[in-house]
Amino acid sequence: MTAGKNEARQGASLNWCVEFHDAPLEALYRRTMRLQDAQQLRYALWLIAATFLLFIMADYVLLGASGTFLILAATRIGVTLSCLVLARYITRYPAQAHRPLPLNLVYFAAISGLLLTIYLHPGSVGLHISSIVVASLTIYLLVPNRLTWILVWNGYLSFGFILLALLWKPLAPGMLASALMIIAFANLMGWLTFSRLNRLQRKQFALLMDERDVNRKLQSEIEERQMLEAQLRHMASTDPLTGIANRRHFFELAERELTRAQREHTPLAICMVDIDLFKTLNDHHGHAVGDLVLTTVASCCASVLRETDIIGRYGGEEFVIALPQADLETANSIAERLRDKVTSLQLPMLPLGQRLSVTVGISQVAHGETRLEPALQRADEALYAGKSRGRNCVVVAGEAPPAITAKA
Ligand code: GH3
Ligand code: MG
Ligand code: MG
Repeated sequence: MTAGKNEARQGASLNWCVEFHDAPLEALYRRTMRLQDAQQLRYALWLIAATFLLFIMADYVLLGASGTFLILAATRIGVTLSCLVLARYITRYPAQAHRPLPLNLVYFAAISGLLLTIYLHPGSVGLHISSIVVASLTIYLLVPNRLTWILVWNGYLSFGFILLALLWKPLAPGMLASALMIIAFANLMGWLTFSRLNRLQRKQFALLMDERDVNRKLQSEIEERQMLEAQLRHMASTDPLTGIANRRHFFELAERELTRAQREHTPLAICMVDIDLFKTLNDHHGHAVGDLVLTTVASCCASVLRETDIIGRYGGEEFVIALPQADLETANSIAERLRDKVTSLQLPMLPLGQRLSVTVGISQVAHGETRLEPALQRADEALYAGKSRGRNCVVVAGEAPPAITAKA
């Protein structure tokens, strides 16, 4: 866990360009930011286009309809159009906002256009320096781009202006030094603010990724625990050999039915089922075959029951069944069906012709009985009565011997 955290922190460290050292993480960050960057770039391009266009009016007031004005207007319209074309292109293909070529072409057009307007414009030096500072801050803060490109284009802008000032627009030495300091300061501010913003955004992104990782781990831990819990619950309630309810779970379910039967005054019958001469079968064919027979008989018994009936392994080769809404007569016919089905089983692990049989004792929960034990006791007694009467039969508790429905 600690190692994982350290790894995440190391991956989240930033280089001098304020990008993640970890290349896949940087790529993921840029992919995540793509739409947002595309939108910000569009807004920036519209703003730049509108600014260039609006200055045509100011040029006209200063220069009138002269040749210089026409060149200036053409330059401004050219820059405006290139910005609008890129904005449209980015709207259609947002992924291109992160490609260097389209954006660099517009940088070139806009910065060159700005330098040309400074060259042609008769305005004051202060105005030109202000334009350079605003353009520089726009490149740092408004147009989303990588730091290296930002520095390249700011370099072009600043050195272009200095060249212009040295060659064609001579400035007094004091003014030139002041201009250089203001431009340098604007670059420093822009760089620092850009770095601060990007550092914050990337740190936030790295934290979000860490949080997602932790959430994912937590989620899978929760799922694993839920699975284990379900397995435990299943193990605690199921007989591992036969797959039916174990004795404890049977009591849980049957007692719920008992409460309901007493509340709604409906019958609840109990059947005790015991495999006949199972010890002999074990002795002749071995314990493994005995286990297989037990499993087969359990599923055979379960197959004749309704969804609402409850079957459990009572112990050894004895099963117990609770039949909600069943009186002794119904229970008797269900038990007969069960006995019949077991008798007709042809088990591949036993020699041909060797048939299994079960003896069933039946009782019914009496009115006012709040526990299952008395009814179980009566069913058990009926079962042993059946054993002593020759097995392979169904005996109803309290029945006189002639009522036994034995089938040899
Ligand atoms: P009866 O017809 O009177 O019921 O005779 P029985 O042989 O079935 O009765 P008894 O109670 O004497 O024998 C039950 C046998 O069931 C004894 C025991 O070895 C076997 N048994 C109990 N649990 C298991 C089990 O999980 N697997 C196997 N293979 N045998 C079991
Ligand atoms: Mg038996
Ligand atoms: Mg027994």
